[in-house]
Amino acid sequence: MNQITTPPRLEVIPESAPFSEGQRSWLNGFLVGLLQLDGSVPLSPEQGAAVLQGVAGDGDDGEAPWHDQTVPIAKRMKLAEGRPLRRRMMAAMAQQDCGQCGYNCNDYSDAIAAKSEARLNLCVPGGKETARMLKALHEELGKAPAGAPATAAPAASQPGPAAAELGRSRDNPAPARFVSRRLLNKNGSEKQTWHIEFDLSGCGLDYVVGDSFGIFARNEVGHVDQIIALLGASHTTEVNGKTLRDVLIDDVSLSPAPDELFELLSFISGGALREKARALAQGEDPDGDAATLDVMAALQKFSGVRPHPEAFVEALEPLQPRLYSISSSHNATPGKLSLTVDCVRYVIGKRKRFGLASNFLAERIHPGDEVRVYVQKAHGFALPQDPKTPIIMIGLGTGIAPFRAFLLDRRATGAGGKNWLFFGHQRATATSSIPTNSTR
Ligand SMILES: Cc1cc2nc3c(=O)[nH]c(=O)nc-3n(C[C@H](O)[C@H](O)[C@H](O)COP(=O)(O)OP(=O)(O)OC[C@H]3O[C@@H](n4cnc5c(N)ncnc54)[C@H](O)[C@@H]3O)c2cc1C
Repeated sequence: MNQITTPPRLEVIPESAPFSEGQRSWLNGFLVGLLQLDGSVPLSPEQGAAVLQGVAGDGDDGEAPWHDQTVPIAKRMKLAEGRPLRRRMMAAMAQQDCGQCGYNCNDYSDAIAAKSEARLNLCVPGGKETARMLKALHEELGKAPAGAPATAAPAASQPGPAAAELGRSRDNPAPARFVSRRLLNKNGSEKQTWHIEFDLSGCGLDYVVGDSFGIFARNEVGHVDQIIALLGASHTTEVNGKTLRDVLIDDVSLSPAPDELFELLSFISGGALREKARALAQGEDPDGDAATLDVMAALQKFSGVRPHPEAFVEALEPLQPRLYSISSSHNATPGKLSLTVDCVRYVIGKRKRFGLASNFLAERIHPGDEVRVYVQKAHGFALPQDPKTPIIMIGLGTGIAPFRAFLLDRRATGAGGKNWLFFGHQRATATSSIPTNSTR
């Protein structure tokens, strides 16, 4: 019978586990010793597999070759073929570890597989491709026998206790007061970048540099009223105990039209329109315009097909919060928080499209207004612990916000380390300077 005697270096903790190299190495040694995997008591391959099963949940080796946001979804799914369901679910995510879903990609998929997370639509950067793939994989989960590896997931996928505190997760936002906004660009700039300030003293939230700020924006009332007109409904129509207008402003996304909306449109139309709506619901693109169809454009495309307001709202996705890197330091300005926000605006056909949260912050809230917010903790994106350590910050194309925060923090704490920032922008001259003069 084959036996494992003294393996060169048994890695019990996968490389993707959320530990530093030092922690991983210590835990590996600890578990190898504890479980006597070092050969003092030889294990059979079956026993070895059972031990790994116990640690990782399903014996997966923890490798994630698909974890690269530039790899298209079809290739990611190919790379995950034959893996447990939770790993294939991870491959379906956008691989940005951006935190918008409240997890990283690995933990979000583990939570879905463990059935501790029921929402399949939280991966905003993954868009419809991810949503469709997750839906298909989730059906597989429903068929898996109870206790099968597909449903097992490491405990790391459970939200930590801090997430339950007010303002510490997207599920428990706190009210923060909007203070001011200031345009950073000079006249004629191709971009609109805003310095936005919030007062946190009322809600008592704090943060460290590197963290992000989650914002629950509201849809614009004029846009909502146009949608209500396309439905041929009244804004006072009651839906879920609220007016239709309030539901459309606060509760649902009016951005990409979801498959469920096309399904609804296919149910209540006929002939060629029905076929078209059905094709769109299945991810096909009969007229080559699928990528441009937000909720309003979908209603305009199927003008005359008027869903009942209740069914319409049910077919839409919930409104998602947006994350912004915090560009201030709590050490420098306690109780205050700033963001640096680029306005998203573009034109499709004859209609101007406005990014929801960036335009909400740039135009639609007023000093003194309360906004629902939360602090999203950064994982591994922070200043070095030793204030004397020099840092090189490279933010080509990503935005200046977190680096401004790092610089402000180092100045406020009198950190002696040198700071070097590489930052890219479309034009050298079109922005006024942001006060980051602590660079040395
Ligand atoms: C961790 C993290 C930190 C972030 N930090 C910052 C920050 O500091 N500053 C900042 O400005 N943003 C930041 N972002 C991005 C931010 O969260 C929002 O995604 C961004 O502001 C757009 O949101 P919105 O609601 O305004 O637009 P949305 O309503 O979400 O619309 C954006 C969508 O519009 C579409 N779109 C955009 N341009 C075009 C175009 N030209 N043609 C066709 N379609 C288009 C794309 O589908 C895009 O996904 C951060 C994101 C993350 C995840």
